Amino acid sequence: MKKIILTGDRPTGKLHLGHYVGSLKQRVDIQNKGDFDEMYIMIADAQALTDNAENPEKIRENIIEVALDYLSVGLDPNKVTLFIQSAVSELTELTFYYMNLVTLARIERNPTVKSEIKARGFDQSIPVGFLTYPISQTSDITAFKANIVPVGDDQLPMLEQAREIVRSFNHTYGEVLVEPKAVLADNEVCKRLPGTDGKAKMSKSIGNCIYLSDDADTVKQKVMSMYTDPTHLKVEDPGHTENNPVFTYLDALCTDEHFKKYLPEYKNLDELKAHYEKGGLGDMKVKRFLNDVINDVLEPIRKRRHEYENKIKDVYDILEKGSNKARKTAQNTLKEVKEAMKINYFEDDALIESHIKKYEK
Ligand code: ATP
Ligand code: MG
Repeated sequence: MKKIILTGDRPTGKLHLGHYVGSLKQRVDIQNKGDFDEMYIMIADAQALTDNAENPEKIRENIIEVALDYLSVGLDPNKVTLFIQSAVSELTELTFYYMNLVTLARIERNPTVKSEIKARGFDQSIPVGFLTYPISQTSDITAFKANIVPVGDDQLPMLEQAREIVRSFNHTYGEVLVEPKAVLADNEVCKRLPGTDGKAKMSKSIGNCIYLSDDADTVKQKVMSMYTDPTHLKVEDPGHTENNPVFTYLDALCTDEHFKKYLPEYKNLDELKAHYEKGGLGDMKVKRFLNDVINDVLEPIRKRRHEYENKIKDVYDILEKGSNKARKTAQNTLKEVKEAMKINYFEDDALIESHIKKYEK
């Protein structure tokens, strides 16, 4: 079976460390191993508009930011297709047909939709487009017949919903669509990296983020003011490393090499954690190490970003070329979908013939 990958991000802000460890890193690894047939990476502007309808300027400005972030982490437009969702209008058309296969109750039960409605304070004034975005995500995935979707774990309910829609479509109209599978990061903490404020998820919409494009001073300032263990008041107090985002970030990012380079008195993270839990290790020392680790990870990314920042026209060309290519693939799937749904009247000679016969005198 062909390995077709689709994944994407909402242009609601620049990409952050959560995106990097939760999804971007896997994409680059798969790309570099060459272990795939096609990879599509989408900037989900239409989806971002579902909860930012009054703010199109924000989405417009962040498309280029997300594209720069993609290129700066090492996604290679010669190997993968980078495209903009709204430039592939077939996706919207598919959504309209899939809507008939999902009940309102099922969408309202989706736990990610529920928590996002709460986080955005929509209460009773939920935009219909926002409520239906899991269906639009199904179109994004199925238009490319993607079977592999690398995501953070907040997206698992979306993938479940997509699989249900695919099964329902294939059952009703015949086998056209492919059931997708989510691929999560191996490392447990990377599946949903917490925010610098200790909240469960680093998220652009909350703003508790360390961005891939943050400079060294900004990273330092964010790390130094990070939430840690509130019970660890004095250096000699025993501390908690669980649910302490400073240690969670180290879990996600640091290697034994980082200890050799920046904190050679410890061999590895287990030793550092043991010292913190016993007492006698101050937060400042751990934060300084974390700051070094993050900057070590971000430095090559920043460097590549600066190169592309000087070639913005090229970046737009990459997106336009990618969108044209994505559109061709989506057109083929839409054609198959319409054929299966019997809404391909003008291409159906047998239909026309039968109606001629029906009215023949
Ligand atoms: P928004 O707040 O606008 O929803 P976001 O920060 O949640 O933005 P998305 O564009 O919705 O980012 O997510 C893109 C991808 O990154 C998804 O696969 C999502 O699961 C993953 N992702 C987002 N935040 C995290 C995180 N903190 N940890 C791991 N993966 C994440
Ligand atoms: Mg999100």
